[in-house]
Amino acid sequence: MIIRRPFRLFLLTVLPLTTALPLVGQELLEIHTAQRCIYTDGQMDEELYRFATNGQVDARIREIAELGGADTVFQWIQTNVENVTAVLDGENRYLLYSLDFVERSNEIEVYGALAHEIGHHVNAHTFSDERRNTEELEADQFMGYVLSKKGFSLADIGVFLKIMPSSYGVTFEDRLQAVTEGFIRAERALQINSLPFDNDPKLEGLTLPGFPWPPPACNARYELPETTLAGLGTLGAVEQKLRVALDAKGYSQRSYFSVPNGFALVTQLEQYNAADASSRNDRTRWLDYPARDNFSGVMDYLKSFIMPQKGYFRLLVFIATNQPFGGGAQRVSKAQATAWLSQGFNKLPQSLAKTPLTPEYSVTVLVYEFEVPESNRKPVQKCPSPLFDAQTHLRKSGIAAGLGL
Ligand SMILES: [Zn+2]
Repeated sequence: MIIRRPFRLFLLTVLPLTTALPLVGQELLEIHTAQRCIYTDGQMDEELYRFATNGQVDARIREIAELGGADTVFQWIQTNVENVTAVLDGENRYLLYSLDFVERSNEIEVYGALAHEIGHHVNAHTFSDERRNTEELEADQFMGYVLSKKGFSLADIGVFLKIMPSSYGVTFEDRLQAVTEGFIRAERALQINSLPFDNDPKLEGLTLPGFPWPPPACNARYELPETTLAGLGTLGAVEQKLRVALDAKGYSQRSYFSVPNGFALVTQLEQYNAADASSRNDRTRWLDYPARDNFSGVMDYLKSFIMPQKGYFRLLVFIATNQPFGGGAQRVSKAQATAWLSQGFNKLPQSLAKTPLTPEYSVTVLVYEFEVPESNRKPVQKCPSPLFDAQTHLRKSGIAAGLGL
C-alpha cells in the first residue's frame, strides 16, 4: 500500500492523539474546502476523513448555537483538521473539528474556536477575499457574544485571544474590539430584558448606541410639520406620540438610538405593496423576521429566501433633534442595517425622554427602501430614486393619520 506523503504525515502526527482511530478503508470526506476559515489560519491536509461524531462536542455545538440565537444551518463532522474549520461547498455548510484539539484545549479555547467558526455560518459568509476582513470580525463578534452568554469574563477572553492574536491578516486590536462589541451586546441584551419598567434607573447606566451620523444616504425624507409637535413638552412626549401612532398600525417592534441632542426610532423591516406603498396585510408583511437576537441582519435575512415575486421592503427612521443634518455619503451597509435592528434599545432612556422640547427641535422621517427581485437572492437598496416619497409612505402605512397629519 502506497501512502501519500500528506496522509503519512497525518498518520504520524495526528493519529496517535486521536481517540477515533481510522481503519483501513476509512471514509474519505469528499467536500471542496477552498472556501473556508481555519481557526488558526493554518494549513489543511489534502485528504480529510470522517470520524465518528463525538457526543460531547455535539452538545457544545448545539449549546453555542442556542446561546447565539442561531440555527444550526451546517453539518458538523469530526475529521483531521488542525482545530476547527468552517467550510462552504456550494450550498452546503460544514463545521469540521478535530477531537484531538477539543481534548487538549481548555474550555474557553474550545468554545471560542467553535463559536468563531459557527459565527461564519450564521452570518452566511462566503469567505471571499474582498470581504475577508469584515467576515473575520463578524465571526469574532459572534464569538464575543456567545462567550459572554456562556459566562466568561472579558479578562478571560483577552487572555485567550492573545494565544492566537491574529488570523487572515486581522490584527489583535481589531479582533479584541469586535469580540468586545459582541460581549457588550450580550450583556446589554440580558440587562434590558431583565428590566420590567421603562424608567428603571439601571437603564440609565447603559449607553444608548449611536445612529450613523449624518444618516446614510438614499432615503426619502420628510420633516413633520410643526403642528405635529404642538403641545408636547419633552422628547419623551414626542416619542410617545410616535409610539402610539406606530402601535395603532402594527409597528410594535422598534429600536432606539442616540443622535446629536436627540434620538432615532427605527421601525421593524416591513414589506409593502409596490402598487401604492400600502402595508402588506397578509403574513408576508413582517415575513417572520427573526425576533431572536442573532447576527443576521436585514441584508442577510433578505438573501435567505427566494421571493416568488418581487418584494419591496422599507425601514422607517424617525429622527428627533435640534441639529440640522444632511445626507451621509455612505449608503446603508449590511453592518449598519444589522445594527439598526439588533443593537438599538427597545426603550428610550429616561435621561433623553426628560429633555425639554424647545422650538429648535423637529422630527424628520427617513424611509429606506429595499427591493428583492423575483427568485433572486440579491436585495438592492433603491437608490437614488425611491419608488415613493416619504409622505406617501407615511400616509399609506396609516402612520400619518395616527400623527394627525
Ligand atoms: Zn474566521
